[in-house]
Amino acid sequence: MPKLDLILIALETSTISKLMEHALRVKYDTAVATDIKSLYRLLQESTPALLLVGEQFDGQEGIAIAEEVLDRFPTLPFLIYTDKAKPELIKSIFRIGVSGFLAPPLKTDEIVDAIENSLKHAHRIGDWLRREVRRTTSSLKRRARISEAERTRLETVFNSIHDGVMILDEDNMVMLINPAMCRTFGLSAEDTIGKPVLEVLTQPDLVALIKQPPVQQNVVQYHEVSFPDGRVGSAQLTPIYEVGLALTMFDITDLKEMDRIRSELVHTVSHDLRSPLTSVIGYTELIERAGSLNDSQREFLKRIQESVQHITSLINDLLELGSVEAGLDTRREYVQLDGILNYTLEMLQGQIKAKHIKVQTEIISTLPALRANPVRLRQVLDNVVGNAIKYSYDQGEVSIFMRAEDSQIIVQVTDNGPGIPAKDQAHIFDKFFRGSNISAHTGSGLGLAIVKSIVEAHQGRMWVESTVGRGSSFFIVLPVLADSPQIVKR
Ligand code: ADP
Repeated sequence: MPKLDLILIALETSTISKLMEHALRVKYDTAVATDIKSLYRLLQESTPALLLVGEQFDGQEGIAIAEEVLDRFPTLPFLIYTDKAKPELIKSIFRIGVSGFLAPPLKTDEIVDAIENSLKHAHRIGDWLRREVRRTTSSLKRRARISEAERTRLETVFNSIHDGVMILDEDNMVMLINPAMCRTFGLSAEDTIGKPVLEVLTQPDLVALIKQPPVQQNVVQYHEVSFPDGRVGSAQLTPIYEVGLALTMFDITDLKEMDRIRSELVHTVSHDLRSPLTSVIGYTELIERAGSLNDSQREFLKRIQESVQHITSLINDLLELGSVEAGLDTRREYVQLDGILNYTLEMLQGQIKAKHIKVQTEIISTLPALRANPVRLRQVLDNVVGNAIKYSYDQGEVSIFMRAEDSQIIVQVTDNGPGIPAKDQAHIFDKFFRGSNISAHTGSGLGLAIVKSIVEAHQGRMWVESTVGRGSSFFIVLPVLADSPQIVKR
């Protein structure tokens, strides 16, 4: 015999309670709670199909009981028995989501109908809930299956990357390593994953790189790594938000070889070009000693010498630009920009004195050290300060400001020279561009192109502000790594 639904009755008046029991017994099992305690016990133990509670029961409001019970058993059909269907009670019933109410006059059929309707409604909700659960579960399962497929695909991609990749967690433990990285260092993924990276990688260049990781997001640290068999790699360390670090390695042996061949070629070509130029200059100097020259001959000789000097500096600039643009110059060390400025000013002393230029320097507070190539930074200052002096009028004024602000060093070089016409300003960093108002000065038009390449290779930026007839200000902004040591100025 199928089990009947159990109706739990909790009514204040025993006669009504008996009446209900009697009416329902035909179709249902019934259980009667005599007080609140037994009501909750029966709710827990007998899992009723419906609860019928009086407007008052065991000294408590039926609505309050309903609220508490529905809080714990939200899908349980719940009817309230009341002597009189007052509007206030009906409003509360709707507010808290009770299935309905029963009120006299009560006929057996009506009681059974009310219970049956509530149960039907509850079953419909139950069926819907079960369907929803099934649907959501199967969609979750499908998604889990998709992410499993995605994981496999990512794994395939990760394992097929030609360059070596290793992912470290925030404690520098190896989380992932791809086969290329394993091959480079003769490791196996099983023996490596989960171990501290410095136990696994002992190559000194890499140890140095890992011990000084970039602390800022979006800052990538590079290091050249030389292997005993002559191969050269470029290692990069990139912070990954909420993960740790990604160490990537790619083989630059061929690039290095190409760079060596290029340097050799450049060296030979520049030597081959420079040597005849040197002898041209030498002979032009000797001509004067070989016999007296007239004024025109002396003037022609001066022009030859100027042109040869121009070609020589052009060759030098081109060679420089070539090597900066090749981008293989990864030398980085901690440098003090204000220290470099002293060397620049010392070198330019001759020109400064000859033109009686007043040079003023202002270095605000202690500048943090930059991770940079000191030779290249020297070129930057030589060019920009050199231009300010070269293009200034006699007795002109040049000021150089340096200050640290928001993890960057800002350099400003200002002169009160001829200025740069607005239409030229967008082009002065282009190769071979020379301003339309400076014909009196010689130059290759390559200096600022070299400077800009160097600044950008150091993740910096530069720009100019200038007014014709009033002067120019060149601005250079270079980023400071957060772990750069503070070098105290004397
Ligand atoms: P060069 O000085 O050899 O011509 P640069 O690349 O150094 O080449 O400069 C490009 C151009 O920018 C110059 O030809 C000149 O017109 C302009 N320029 C640079 N610095 C200054 C300055 N301080 N004052 C006026 N013009 C300048």
